[in-house]
Amino acid sequence: MKKKYHQLNLLPIALLMFFLIGGLKTAFSQSNTAEVCQTITSRIIKNLTNNKPDNKLVAANIAAIKPDGTWPGVDYASKSITIWPPTEHLIKLQTLIKAYLTKNSGFYADEKVFQHINNALQYWYNLDPKSDNWWFNEIYTPQSLGESLIMMEHGEKKLDKELKLKLVERMKRGNPEKQAGANKTDIALHYFYRAVLTEDDTLLAFSLKEFFSPVGLVYKKEGLQYDNSYMQHGLQLYIAGYGDVFINSVFKLANYVKETPYALSADKVALLSNFYRNTFLKAIRGEYADFNIEGRRISRFDMLNLEKQIESGQILKASPQILIAKEVDPKNAVDWDSAIARITGKQEPSYNVKKLHTQYFNSDYTLHVRPGYSFNVRMVSNRTKRCESGNNENLLGRYLSDGATNIQVNGPEYYNIMPVWEWDKIPGVTSRDYATDRPMTVFWGEQGSNDFAGGVSDGVYGASTYALDYDSVKAKKSWFFFDNEIMCLGTGIKSNEPESITTAINQCWLKGSVESSLSRNPIAKDKTIQRNEKLSTWFLHDNVGYYFPQGGNITLSTSVQKGNWYHINNSQPKDELSGKVFKLWLNHGSKPQNASYAYIVLPGIKDAASLKKFEANNLKIIANNPAMQAVYHQKLNILQAIFYQPGTLTLPSMEIKTDKVCALMIKMINGKRLISIADPLQKEKTATLSLKDLKTGKTEQVTVHFPEGALAGSSVQYKN
Ligand code: CA
Repeated sequence: MKKKYHQLNLLPIALLMFFLIGGLKTAFSQSNTAEVCQTITSRIIKNLTNNKPDNKLVAANIAAIKPDGTWPGVDYASKSITIWPPTEHLIKLQTLIKAYLTKNSGFYADEKVFQHINNALQYWYNLDPKSDNWWFNEIYTPQSLGESLIMMEHGEKKLDKELKLKLVERMKRGNPEKQAGANKTDIALHYFYRAVLTEDDTLLAFSLKEFFSPVGLVYKKEGLQYDNSYMQHGLQLYIAGYGDVFINSVFKLANYVKETPYALSADKVALLSNFYRNTFLKAIRGEYADFNIEGRRISRFDMLNLEKQIESGQILKASPQILIAKEVDPKNAVDWDSAIARITGKQEPSYNVKKLHTQYFNSDYTLHVRPGYSFNVRMVSNRTKRCESGNNENLLGRYLSDGATNIQVNGPEYYNIMPVWEWDKIPGVTSRDYATDRPMTVFWGEQGSNDFAGGVSDGVYGASTYALDYDSVKAKKSWFFFDNEIMCLGTGIKSNEPESITTAINQCWLKGSVESSLSRNPIAKDKTIQRNEKLSTWFLHDNVGYYFPQGGNITLSTSVQKGNWYHINNSQPKDELSGKVFKLWLNHGSKPQNASYAYIVLPGIKDAASLKKFEANNLKIIANNPAMQAVYHQKLNILQAIFYQPGTLTLPSMEIKTDKVCALMIKMINGKRLISIADPLQKEKTATLSLKDLKTGKTEQVTVHFPEGALAGSSVQYKN
């Protein structure tokens, strides 16, 4: 007898929000453009002067400025593309303006300060400095000038009208209609400033239409994706970097125009809030970002620390930006406040963190979050681009997209480690082990070449899979995610190149000692242990357990590693840095033809006693071969399986047959089966699953209808 399976709706949250919330228009009072612009101007100034100027810094900038309005030491002629020295002039100028506007600053309404401001603006107008990077000319400079001019609207004394209008004219650079994503909103922002400065309602409406137009879901385009991720520079994962810059700038503007005729609609606020809270903030542990979400910014000093990250010479703190998001979206106050508490260190990294598993089928990324840890994976496919190098940044990030696993318990495990990393042993990655790290040769995002990548998810548990085919190395890599364990399986590892092929388990800062089943005493720094183990082996370091159920050719290094930021990013300092690194990897040897591996990561484990008690049998490897990889978690009663080809998986009590490639999860709940299934190739419309009970001989069939279009690759669920 056939049991009937019901398909459950499992629309991505992003899409659900879109349908649930209608296009509500904010009620507004009758007001003319001048009044609206005055309201907006006050809000902009309030935001810009939120951080009170440092009086010592202001005094130093006033003491140093020359009568011609220049500062000594600023290289006004520089055309540098990443750190452009003339921005120092604009930054110093803004400190003067803020001091001039701030009561009790000691410089409030000071006539001399006003003259310096005037001179500095006049000098900038006359010289019109330009960078070889269009971003400074068409985004940074007009934005900064707009901010300065708007702030001076509330000055005790107004700027000379002619100078103001000349500078407003100078702001006319860039065209938002020709740009996408964050670049579009960045240009629209200075159009908006210009509209407010000139009280031009047509320009105001145009700038806001352009500014808010990227707020919507896109498919196979740059911007906010249906899977609630963000891509830019082609279809390239950029949740942080372009993603958070985009979201923060939109929220900033939404806050400026709220309750005016130009307010952002409620459905768009919901989309933004959903991305910010449920993707960006979920990829942060404590105050530290997952290195996978940063793109080429991974090669910049301090970038992983949300309260210390530096952009264009300024420290960008995340917490005030999250407060702005809360002002625009107060109904999610608990989420915003919890994030701020974690990021500012007022609460533990686990504070208000809930279980979550999200498969990003548009951008090839997996988030697996528990109160005690994060374990996230970055993959790539021929539908997406690999993590880029560009502007001489991220020069060695060749393998950042080959199944890189970011494992965080405390938060700072990878914070500023990048200069000393061995770049062909990125955590989680299988690759050739070169004697010297190889620089990238393709810039601005190399297109992925493998068609197989993705995963199945029910929002709490899931499995991810990636058929690596890069740099003349092939491997089938999967990750099976549960509550306390992540099983990592590799098979079909093949290469004909001379280098050894290795799988890096982790490469993070060494914190304390390492305990292991291989050693009676804790392993201190400056040790390298290499063993070819046939039996189960474990390691414990910094609250993360590593369990090798079948041993393997394992190497552990706890040595000091050296490097500098410059060798991964030419805009960064050359100072030699060093630190002790915990580096654990498996060696598959030279020219493996069908090598495999298995290891279990236990993040958040307390001590060696807990690891010794770990019941590996509870987590059974059912298959690990080029046709399929499957794991069964006995306690949770969850089976996860990857079928690289149609076939049959045999369990002690059941046989599962599929006529299509798939990623499958079967969870038993109160005697009922909950099946979640996805297509990692994103090309099938249907599949037929046959589940045969080996005791009774009864077979159940499930006809699977895979989501298509923008939702291809996402999971569908069936329940009997
Ligand atoms: Ca190497």
